[in-house]
Amino acid sequence: MLEEILAGGAAALGISLPENALPLYRAYYTALTEANRQFNLTAIEGEDEAAYLHFLDSLAVLRWAELTGKTVIDVGAGGGIPGLALKIAEPAMELTLLDATEKKTAFLASLSERLGLPCVCLTGRAEELGRESPWRETYDVAVARAVAETRILAEICLPFVKVGGRLLALKSAETDEELKAAESTVRALGGIIAAIHDYTLPGTDIPRRLVVLQKTAPTPEKYPRRWAAIQKRPL
Ligand code: SAM
Repeated sequence: MLEEILAGGAAALGISLPENALPLYRAYYTALTEANRQFNLTAIEGEDEAAYLHFLDSLAVLRWAELTGKTVIDVGAGGGIPGLALKIAEPAMELTLLDATEKKTAFLASLSERLGLPCVCLTGRAEELGRESPWRETYDVAVARAVAETRILAEICLPFVKVGGRLLALKSAETDEELKAAESTVRALGGIIAAIHDYTLPGTDIPRRLVVLQKTAPTPEKYPRRWAAIQKRPL
């Protein structure tokens, strides 16, 4: 059952959830299931799968990142993972949920209001908004899951992050090659690969990886490039 999996999983991760968190995750799961009947929001089905692969996967970030009071942008949020799942656990963060698809951001805006968790929901392409004020170099933290390989992810996400801030990328454990290939890209964008945290999703044998990119210098003005160039010639 969703509540048991989340309570046990959070304890295993060393995270204490607010009192109202479990009912909020239940309401989130119900909303995802309803929305999935109308459009394709997530491939994950059933409450156990959602508890492990959406909610606990998101919560694992808190083992390594303190987000209270931070400005956070979830780039390519889709159904709100990891951003909205993190906001339930850390309501004091200021969250922006960004996605290119209007249907998804409309769902997120209405859901965050229903859950009583105010968020800014932005529709647009990360590589376009990341060039503009008030979004460029504005956030303490960017988070992203299942959006792109690390070179591309770094180009579309790091421009949002302030110098001294971080990009937290939720990745599969099989990303050694991808991360090696991204080292010089990340440097060109004003960052470094600061940490790679490997772990097993509590209650499963699924290996997961949290990649932490630290922003050490402003991103040069020429980045991010247009989507066609980013895709055709990753940095
Ligand atoms: N992060 C969610 C998750 O893990 O469940 C959604 C992952 S989904 C596979 C990728 C999402 O990223 C889609 O909703 C897509 O619209 C969005 N996306 C992809 N490229 C984007 C871009 N350049 N700018 C904004 N959103 C983007």
